[in-house]
Amino acid sequence: MSAAPDRSKQARTAVQKHGGYSMSPLVQRKLWIGLVVVALAIAPALAGNFTVSLLNDIGIGALVALGLVLLTGIGGATSFGQAAFVGIAAYATAWLTTAQGFSPWIGLPFALLLTGLSALAIGMLTLRLGGHFLPLSTIAWGLSIAMLFGNVDALGRHTGLSNIPALRIGGWSLADPRAIYYLIWALVGLAFLFSRNLLESRPGRAIRSLRGGATLLASVGEDAYRVRLSLFVTAALFAGLAGWLYAHMNRFVSPSPFDVRASIEYLLMAVAGGLGQLAGALVGSALVLILKNGLQDVLPMLTQRAGQLEAVAFATLFILLLHFARGGLMGFVRRWTRGRFAAPLSREPSVPVEPLPHRTLPDRGSPILSVTGAVKRFGGLVAVNDVSFDVKAGEIVGLIGPNGAGKSTMFNLLTCTLPMTAGQVRFLGQDIAGMPQRKVARLGLARTFQHVKLRPHMSLLDNVALGAHSRTATGVLKAGLRLDRTEERQILQEAQRQLDRIGLGDRAHELAGSLPLGTQRILEIARALAADPVLLVLDEPAAGLRRKEKMALGDLLRKLREEGVTILIVEHDMDFVMKLVDRLVVMNFGSKLVEGVPSAVRADERVQAAYLGSVV
Ligand code: ADP
Ligand code: MG
Repeated sequence: MSAAPDRSKQARTAVQKHGGYSMSPLVQRKLWIGLVVVALAIAPALAGNFTVSLLNDIGIGALVALGLVLLTGIGGATSFGQAAFVGIAAYATAWLTTAQGFSPWIGLPFALLLTGLSALAIGMLTLRLGGHFLPLSTIAWGLSIAMLFGNVDALGRHTGLSNIPALRIGGWSLADPRAIYYLIWALVGLAFLFSRNLLESRPGRAIRSLRGGATLLASVGEDAYRVRLSLFVTAALFAGLAGWLYAHMNRFVSPSPFDVRASIEYLLMAVAGGLGQLAGALVGSALVLILKNGLQDVLPMLTQRAGQLEAVAFATLFILLLHFARGGLMGFVRRWTRGRFAAPLSREPSVPVEPLPHRTLPDRGSPILSVTGAVKRFGGLVAVNDVSFDVKAGEIVGLIGPNGAGKSTMFNLLTCTLPMTAGQVRFLGQDIAGMPQRKVARLGLARTFQHVKLRPHMSLLDNVALGAHSRTATGVLKAGLRLDRTEERQILQEAQRQLDRIGLGDRAHELAGSLPLGTQRILEIARALAADPVLLVLDEPAAGLRRKEKMALGDLLRKLREEGVTILIVEHDMDFVMKLVDRLVVMNFGSKLVEGVPSAVRADERVQAAYLGSVV
C-alpha cells in the first residue's frame, strides 16, 4: 500500500473488520483456541499415563494461575499466599468427605464457601494496606494457614488426610487420571470463559482500572477497595476450585503442597506465562510444571540435594524473567503477532437497545452548588481562605486565578477529593463536605483531572464506558456468566454516543494511550459525560492544548451548555475562559478576589494586578 502510514493503518483495520484478504484477528484467535481445545480433547487417547497426569496437574495449576493473572497481573495486587486457598478448599472437601462421609459434590460448594469466606476475611484485613505491606501480609497468612493444617488433629496434622473418595458422575468413577482429565479441563475452559467475560464487562472495566488509582475509580462512583476485594475473592475461588479437584484427584492431602513455596510456584506460573493475559496462566502452568518435571529427572543425577537445587533453579528463572521478560512467554507471542490478539475487544453495540435512564436535570437557573466559607489549610499554609460562591443550573462558571491561587485545592474540596478544614459545600441541596468522593460522583458531580487519568491500554470506548459505571449495577458473577448482555450493550451504546458527541466516534476501538494529550483531555470529558452528570467540573482542560484544539474544546463546552449541562471550569488561561463563561470567580492567594461577568472581571484593576503580578 503506498498511502501514508496512518492511512494504511486505517485500511488494515478496515480489512480486519470486514474480513478481506487477511484473516480477521478474531477469527485467528478463535482458530488458535479451537486448535488448543482439539489438542486437549484428543491428548488422553494419544498420551501415556504419565503425560495425562502431568496435564491434569497443568490444568489445576492453570486455574490457580488464572486467578493470579486477574489479581496480580490485571488488578495489581501481588499475592504470595494463593496456595493457602487451594489448601483450604482441599482440606475442606477432604474433611467433609472422609470424616463426615458426604459426597464430593457436597464437598465442592462447602470448599468454595469456606475458601470464599476466608478470602473475604483476609481481604478485609489486608487489602487496604498499601505498597509492600500487602505482598508481605500475603506471605504471613500463607505461612500461618499452612501451619494450621499441620497442627490440627482433625486434619491429620503433618500426616494429612487420606482415603479421600474419588469423584463419581452417576455410575462413572473419575478415579482414573484419564477420566478426571476431562472434568479438570472442562472446568479450566469454563474458568477462562468466565474470566474473559468478566474482563469485558462493567466490573471488568473497574478491575482493569485499579492500577489507575483509587481517585480515578472514586470519580466514577466506585470504591477501589471493594473492587479489589471482589477480585481477591474471585481469584481465591479459582484456587478453591483447583483445591477441590486436587483433593479428589490425589485422594490425599498433606500440608506441604499448600505452603508458601507452592504459592511462589503459582506466582511463577503467572509471571512466566505473562501476567497481562489470561492465556498466560495456561502457558505458564505448562512451562513451570514441565520444567519442574524435567529438573526432577535431571537434578538427582547431578546431586543428592535435588530438592534444594530445584528451588535455586526456580529462583533463578524468576529473576531472569523479571529482568528480561516481564511480559512472560505470552509477551513474546504478543510481539510476534504484533499484539493482534492482545487487547480485549469490547463487545460492539450491534443492535440498538433502550438507552440507559437519564437523570432529571434541575430547572435552568436553580442553584445546584453552593460553597460557603470554604477553608483549607495545609499545615501553616492557607491554600483556600474563606471562599464562597454559587453555581446555577445551565451556566458555565469559570474559577480562575494565577498559579498557586488555590484553584486546584478548591476543586478538590468541592469534589470531596480533599477534606475541608472549615466551611460548607452544598450540592443539590445536600451537604457534601466530608462525603466520600464516590458518593458525590453518584449524586451527579462528574470531574476530569488536571493530570489526565485514562487507562492507556484500554480502548477509547472502554475508557468512556467506565464513566457510566455508577448508572449500572452488574457484579462479578453476573458478568462472568454473561448475564449482562443487555446492560452491557446499553453501556457501550452510551459510551459510543458520548464519543460521537466529542467527535471521536470513529476512533472508538483505538487505545487511549495512543491519543495526543489534548485529545486525552477531551476523552476525559466524554468519560465524565457518560455518568449523565448534573454538574461537570473540569480542572484546566485547556492546558497543553493548541489554539485549534482550544477552540474545538470551547465549541464543545458551549454545545454542552445548550444541552443543559452545567459546567464549572477551573482554568489558568484567562483568554480561553473569557469567551466561554457566563460568570467568573477570581481567586488570588487562596481568597476570592472578584466575582462577576467576564467583561466586568476583565476591567477590574485588582484582577489585572493579580495576573500581572504573576508569571502568566
Ligand atoms: P492553583 O491550582 O491555583 O495553581 P493550588 O490549589 O494547586 O493552586 O495550590 C494553592 C497553594 O496550596 C499552593 O501554594 C500550593 O503549594 C499549596 N498546596 C497545594 N496542595 C498542597 C498539599 N497537598 N500540601 C501542601 N500544600 C499544598
Ligand atoms: Mg492547579
